[in-house]
Amino acid sequence: MAKYTGPDCRQCRREGVKLFLKGERCMSAKCAIEKRPTPPGQHGAGRKKASSYAVQLREKQKTKRIYGLCEKQFRGYFDKAETMRGISGENMLSLLERRLDNVVFRMGIAPSRAQARQIVNHALITVNGKTVNIPSFLVKKGDVIAVKENKVDKTYFKNLKEGKSIGLVKWLEFDNEKLSGRIVELPTREDIVENIEEHLIVELYSK
Ligand code: SF4
Repeated sequence: MAKYTGPDCRQCRREGVKLFLKGERCMSAKCAIEKRPTPPGQHGAGRKKASSYAVQLREKQKTKRIYGLCEKQFRGYFDKAETMRGISGENMLSLLERRLDNVVFRMGIAPSRAQARQIVNHALITVNGKTVNIPSFLVKKGDVIAVKENKVDKTYFKNLKEGKSIGLVKWLEFDNEKLSGRIVELPTREDIVENIEEHLIVELYSK
């Protein structure tokens, strides 16, 4: 499936929830879903009750959009999760959380996953001292994630050092001063803060 290139806020309006795709703007009064909470399109506001298939599809689309993935990538995580021990839906969410771009976002190095992906793509992040520029890189317990040493003086990262620490999820540690953090534990279902009903995605893909 082709990469979505339209307005980010349209995706939130389509799913009917805030997906937090635009960093600080999402917290402001400029948020499109605050101003216009109806689905996009001419007949968006007049849509009828959704079928169970539509509910499952929307849940899958919402989750895919939260993590900024295309269908093929997203399906790949589901397929991988099915081969793992445990509950497929929970395994899938854990894999998505372990992506390096998500970790950079969760640590507060970037205000959105899209920006986190750019930071990783531009080779500004190291994992255990080695540069990793692959956003889909899966972190492991004990991995040390840091801003590349010769980049910490960039204005963006200097501001980050001086800013407040964000409330971190419990499976991560991050030191604003050192611009470095650690994977304390692998994420479990309870660590996923987004409102995702993964059983609907499993039902959809299992048809
Ligand atoms: Fe979604 Fe953020 Fe746009 Fe609001 S500002 S609609 S949360 S992307």
